[in-house]
Amino acid sequence: MNTLLDTTPEDLLSVALLRRMDVPGPRYTSYPTADRYVEAFGATEYQQALRQRAAMSGAASLSVYVHIPFCESLCYYCACNKIITKHKSRGREYLADLQREVELHVAELGRGQLVSQLHLGGGSPTFLSDEELADLLAMLRAAFVVQLEAEVSIEVDPRTVSRERLRRIAAMGFNRISFGVQDFDPAVQQAVHRVQPFESVRELVQEAQALGFASINADLIYGLPMQTPESFQRTIAQVAELRPTRIALYAYAHLPQRFKPQRRIDTAALPSAEQRLQMLRDGMAGFIAHGYSYIGMDHFALPDDALAVAKRQGRLHRNFQGYTTQPDKDLLGLGVSAIGRVGATYSQNAKTLAEYHDALAQGQFPVVRGLALTRDDLLRRAVIMALMCQGRVDFESIDAAHLVTMRELFAPEFENLKPLQALGLVEVTDHEIQVTARGWFFVRAVAMVFDRHLQADRARERFSRII
Ligand code: SF4
Repeated sequence: MNTLLDTTPEDLLSVALLRRMDVPGPRYTSYPTADRYVEAFGATEYQQALRQRAAMSGAASLSVYVHIPFCESLCYYCACNKIITKHKSRGREYLADLQREVELHVAELGRGQLVSQLHLGGGSPTFLSDEELADLLAMLRAAFVVQLEAEVSIEVDPRTVSRERLRRIAAMGFNRISFGVQDFDPAVQQAVHRVQPFESVRELVQEAQALGFASINADLIYGLPMQTPESFQRTIAQVAELRPTRIALYAYAHLPQRFKPQRRIDTAALPSAEQRLQMLRDGMAGFIAHGYSYIGMDHFALPDDALAVAKRQGRLHRNFQGYTTQPDKDLLGLGVSAIGRVGATYSQNAKTLAEYHDALAQGQFPVVRGLALTRDDLLRRAVIMALMCQGRVDFESIDAAHLVTMRELFAPEFENLKPLQALGLVEVTDHEIQVTARGWFFVRAVAMVFDRHLQADRARERFSRII
């Protein structure tokens, strides 16, 4: 299998190639992507999907995601669904809604469903007090059986925790932790209204290491205001010094028309397109030079981290939280705006707290949109996820599982792969598509070839240009 575990990207990536491939595209945490969900799929359809699962004997264990939308202060780059508030009482009110939502699930699935993965995201889960976090976990444990070896993870805003608080979080049973770092440069932190000095984050990461969290992730963003390739090099070195087991390196997308907080960012302070590419390349080269393995889609992990091991063994999977070692399974998305996957459906909860609360107060699931996947969606999802996770599509196994002949059915797609073959990103033989070492850096561009919805958009654009 073609991997990058011992490869530096200098010989694989040129700025010219990065420039050519730096096109916006989905992250494929689901296929079809969330922007394709429709309102025709609502609470009733979701309930039916749950009932189908309940009727299945021997259904696999569940993943559960809980969205905590609150944050105490606004980061100007933010594009998340969050509510900025200083009123701590909102946490308790929200837990009451979550309890209602959990009980609706219990009514359909029965109490005691096995959970092998539980993730708290946001917003800022640490907006909740320790007591509230403990109550939330107790409530979930009363409804589900969280397996002993389950991954129990939490996103942490370093400004909201101390070493003592981390100890309490570990004692509650969280065994994976993710810190929002973004950038360590003081001028960048000022410019995005998120000040968290390196020394305080270092203290927290060291404490998390001492507490034995199985994985410690650091999120970074390049393309922020005041960032320069020089300043970002310093952040890369500082992050590498902290030795988190995982690193996610995201690109900042400046879309002030869409995300209101971003209007506070001084456009003149944003790095140029050339500087952004340089930072991306430096990040990739830097973390690999510091001993990290490239997982895919801007994610890095130390070679003995479970993600890197799964990548080597071809056991990587992908869900709404990104790469995971857990095989595809049903995911219950709880909380405002949360996304779930049950059987061959996706669903999303109401995005406003008022709408979310009102549905629950009426005893209804707060699902407002979603999708029941067609046969074509399921086939393409299998191909896209095989590319994104294993970097390889075996025609025979896809043909057998979906009763198709891939080479014939996807003749136009194979034609569209040719430019990527010419760039050395994929190799196509009679029996497989293989993403090359270089192709892993652009794997979503390869996946996009098989996205029917993107193809339809392009056809529409061409059509509207013609007329
Ligand atoms: S970036 Fe995170 S902490 Fe900052 S406002 Fe957005 S959700 Fe809250």
